[in-house]
Amino acid sequence: MAVSVGIDLGTTFSAVAYVDPQTKTPKIIPNSEGNKITPSIIQFINGKPVFGSEAESAFAASEPGCVATFKRNMGKTDVYCTIDGTPYTAEDLSALLLRHLKEDAEAELGDKIKDAVITVPAYFYSPEREATLKAAAAAGLKVKKIIDEPNAATMAYGLNNWRENANILVYDLGGGTFDVTLTRMGKDGELTSITTRGDYYLGGRDWDDRIEIILIEKFADETGIETSSNPITKAMIRGLTEGVKKQLSTMETAKVTATILDYGVASVVITKKEFEERTKDLIDRTGALCQAVLEEAELSLRDVTDVLLVGGSTRMPQVSQYIFNMFGKKPITHVNPDEAVALGAAIQATKENESYTKLSVQVMSDGKKVTDRASSGLSTRAVIKPLKKLSSIGLLSLRETTAHAMGIVAINDEGNRYYNEIIIPANHPRPVRAAKRFRFYTLPKSKNELEIYVLQGDSMNPLDCVIPYKYVVTGIQHVNKGEKIGTVIRVQYSYDENGIIHIQARQGYAEVDLPIRKDDVPSNISRFGQPVVNDQPGQKPSLGLQLGRGVSHNVVHKYKAITFSNVEWKKYDNIAFHPSGAAFNEPSVHIIANEKAIEFHGYNVSAMDEGVSYTINADDNFEIECDINTSTIQPHPGGNVKITLGIITASLNENGGQIRLDGETVVKVGPKFKLKMSLTEGGHYKVYTNGKLAGSKVKPSMGGIDVCFGLAHDEHCCHILSHAYISNISMKQRMNQNMEDDSSETETWES
Ligand code: AMP
Repeated sequence: MAVSVGIDLGTTFSAVAYVDPQTKTPKIIPNSEGNKITPSIIQFINGKPVFGSEAESAFAASEPGCVATFKRNMGKTDVYCTIDGTPYTAEDLSALLLRHLKEDAEAELGDKIKDAVITVPAYFYSPEREATLKAAAAAGLKVKKIIDEPNAATMAYGLNNWRENANILVYDLGGGTFDVTLTRMGKDGELTSITTRGDYYLGGRDWDDRIEIILIEKFADETGIETSSNPITKAMIRGLTEGVKKQLSTMETAKVTATILDYGVASVVITKKEFEERTKDLIDRTGALCQAVLEEAELSLRDVTDVLLVGGSTRMPQVSQYIFNMFGKKPITHVNPDEAVALGAAIQATKENESYTKLSVQVMSDGKKVTDRASSGLSTRAVIKPLKKLSSIGLLSLRETTAHAMGIVAINDEGNRYYNEIIIPANHPRPVRAAKRFRFYTLPKSKNELEIYVLQGDSMNPLDCVIPYKYVVTGIQHVNKGEKIGTVIRVQYSYDENGIIHIQARQGYAEVDLPIRKDDVPSNISRFGQPVVNDQPGQKPSLGLQLGRGVSHNVVHKYKAITFSNVEWKKYDNIAFHPSGAAFNEPSVHIIANEKAIEFHGYNVSAMDEGVSYTINADDNFEIECDINTSTIQPHPGGNVKITLGIITASLNENGGQIRLDGETVVKVGPKFKLKMSLTEGGHYKVYTNGKLAGSKVKPSMGGIDVCFGLAHDEHCCHILSHAYISNISMKQRMNQNMEDDSSETETWES
């Protein structure tokens, strides 16, 4: 029976693990030399790749034909090295290493590998992840999933150390990369990564570089010879650095002896203290990223339950000390940093992949995010339960997040500046899809192509982001409806379960995708940092997405996305008289309406007129989704919460109630449910409860239509109410055809 494995394809070391069918626990598969980890080093001897300790020793001795740390160049298409006339990319080298790992593991298991989960740094961009997939395919490996290294490590750790509601900060300092991820342990094995940051130009190698600098200085002081000018001596010193660093992990000093050309044998001493002083800026960089992760999650240092150390470089004592100083607690070090990632990947290899989610976070026009914090579980300061061992790996489930926001190069409303229009924010659960509508003006005798420059990064400035791909949407039909209308192009962006980006586009409401071509990203993209040059003098600059600007009229207009906070809700609290004649002098119901929620608190409501309302035009497209909870209303016959969109009306008390469409009850609901109401052109009303269509009706009307969330009383003018909550409100509105420059999210579709 073929086996599923987990592979940690590390910068300096790699490891393979599987779940032992007998014990149902993850185990490392030793390589052909009996070692649990294999150096990520290749030596080419007469064109043939050699791996393991032989390659490692050859590399340490600076023998020719050796390559290492190629993982740092994953995703780059340029040649990483040329050996004996053969050029290799980082992807080619990773493919060779993966094939070796696969063959070694198969020999050890005496069985074929069916498929594999491969780990990558959380901070890997889409091209690096794609290159990992391609390298695996070239190595003859079927990839079940790519997961992020810190998440894999947390899975392995969590299996024996589950603490419900704990926030675990995974500090992963490897040989070449640094990742920090905040992960939440939910109920019985539900692991959710909340935020992640990283620097993949920061790792053990940088500490080695500092040792090299210190040694070169010390040998120069000792011998009077500038060793850095001699390549052989320099290479020899370089070869010593990692060993010296490791020695300083256990000793206060390290004595280093070397034969210096034109001098002879010389010795110098390097102390742990000076090593730590000279690398303080490097460790501070890791601290800044830890802070950034916490800020993003809106948590403080105190909210971190535990810090888990992963990656070989966390063996440096300065790391534990730094974490202790920062968090006031000792990090968890009993996880074997060399093995945890592969073990976690092996657990994931026994799982099915997750399904796509819709956006649960909105990005405002100023780039700020409104996160659905309730769904992330962060809003509750829940009590951390005692540590326990999970009874089975079957309980563990992992929800990963997007490390980078995905956006698109767009032009601002003034038409003078390029900016990053973020479509999917960073740290959103993945896989995730989001689609937007854009207005696109076509020409009769033109190619009508839409250029899309994809951005990965949070900055509003495209030049501060990575541009992983450029796509060209082709096959757009000319729509002869005059300049005002143009055609609608729906563009769908996805992060798949591996964190790889996909783009699709459809014209109008067609059910088929338009052809999309992937072009090379131009090497010079500096124009995105400069003012927009209008290619049609005398005309209003183009708005919206960046298009084939050589082609006139190639303009995309955006739909206006609305959010709760940019709609002017009218608050009304009409306090009338009690039937007894007593006057209510003070508004006794407090309505708190914030970004995404409305809360009603109060008692002794006198009339039917308390709440918030908003008026839309009959020809606007409008949609609102929210979570309702009226279970906390104190019972009082007749009093209820009333929600209205035109002819849709919900009347709810503490037991729930009914939803009517033009006076007719279409569904009965309990006190807690998800409500979605929509109105599209021509008076098409639809109402959904808990995701299911409850009713629809066409009722054309003119003028203003009210959207209300209020309190009502059907029988008399007094009722008691304590609390009612309407939360997670999300709204969309497309203005009528005559209004330009509007953009909004639209329905996503299956690939
Ligand atoms: P990884 O990429 O997780 O395999 O980590 C490899 C890095 O860990 C390399 O830079 C090693 O030099 C470093 N490393 C391994 N063991 C130690 C140690 N005892 N002290 C300091 N660094 C170490």
